Amino acid sequence: MGKEAQGTIPLVRLTRVVDGLPEQPQGDAGLVTWSVRGEMGKSGLLMGRPLLHIHVQANPVLICQRCNEPFVYPIDSEVLLQLVKSEADLDDDVSYGDPSSEDDEGEEGNGFVSNLPEKVVGSHHFDLLAQIEDELILSVPYVPKHDVCPGALAKVSEAPPEEPAVKRPSPFAVLEQLKHKD
Ligand SMILES: [Zn+2]
Repeated sequence: MGKEAQGTIPLVRLTRVVDGLPEQPQGDAGLVTWSVRGEMGKSGLLMGRPLLHIHVQANPVLICQRCNEPFVYPIDSEVLLQLVKSEADLDDDVSYGDPSSEDDEGEEGNGFVSNLPEKVVGSHHFDLLAQIEDELILSVPYVPKHDVCPGALAKVSEAPPEEPAVKRPSPFAVLEQLKHKD
């Protein structure tokens, strides 16, 4: 195995992602870069099972829910999927070996498989783009916010409480004046 593929796609083409988002940048800034690598599981329960690593990078513009300003939210996300042959295999936990030995765990049910990759049907129906789209949707925060809103910063520095009536000229303004003297 070890098959690899990569490419880019305009974010705006992923309609499920941009639904509800502000206008996205044109050109390179609005591109999603993805790569996908197929391989066989090498250990444990995934031994010999076909896996798919998907790596997605994008820089969607989101609206900050605190200050309502748009900002770029970089996404760099990887997901591991396990390919199965048919829809029926999606729920087929028996393929993981011996789940009955875990029965005494009780209420959590199949919680023991929660660290395993999500299963997808790896037939010719496999929709890589949909997986990329899903990953981006999961990566976009439900309530996007600046770490520190630039508006809040500006307000603080623009209007300190004891601002003198006459502002001192900025160093740049002074420079400009010097330049124009001769
Ligand atoms: Zn903000």
